[in-house]
Amino acid sequence: MGHSLRCRCGALTGLVSESRKAARGVCYCKDCQAFGRYLGNPETVLDSMGGTDVVATLAKHVSFTSGTDFLACLSLTERGLLRWYARCCGTPIGNTLKNFRVPYVGLVHTCLGTPAVIEASFGPVRMRVNTKSAQGRPKVMPLSQAAALLRFFPMLLLARLDGSYKATPFFTADGTPVAQRKVLTRLELETARNAG
Ligand SMILES: [Zn+2]
Ligand SMILES: [Zn+2]
Repeated sequence: MGHSLRCRCGALTGLVSESRKAARGVCYCKDCQAFGRYLGNPETVLDSMGGTDVVATLAKHVSFTSGTDFLACLSLTERGLLRWYARCCGTPIGNTLKNFRVPYVGLVHTCLGTPAVIEASFGPVRMRVNTKSAQGRPKVMPLSQAAALLRFFPMLLLARLDGSYKATPFFTADGTPVAQRKVLTRLELETARNAG
């Protein structure tokens, strides 16, 4: 089943194919929180405990259909994840590793629609990770998390081995990000971290 992807203003659109080959989870790490705050409107990104609802899938299942010029990329630190967003309206899109041979993409819920729509396509939240930095005590889900990861890692490994990691809308054929990465300055990062 396909699931459409859209930034808040609608300029950037796309499609997630194979929505069943995904694992949904909530990440409470300080970096995801800072990313949500840096782009503005954090109340639309983070839940009441600072969690970001993320759908993990393979980059080859993601394609953009319009507004690709608006796709932008930042990292909180030099070594950090590539955090993709729509610069037209500051909508978080997803996170990838710097190395495109590991074709993980964690799509942020903000580009996937309402919780109900997301649940219909990708199923319920199966893991809550980095809960130590949550603002509260979210319940961890060790059993469903282990099951989801056991399903997901083989897909990731297979895509690495069969070369299908090369099918990605986030990198060129030689593994260069399609948008120039901006690394936050120390001040920008501190501001984003402390804004919550
Ligand atoms: Zn937009
Ligand atoms: Zn995180």
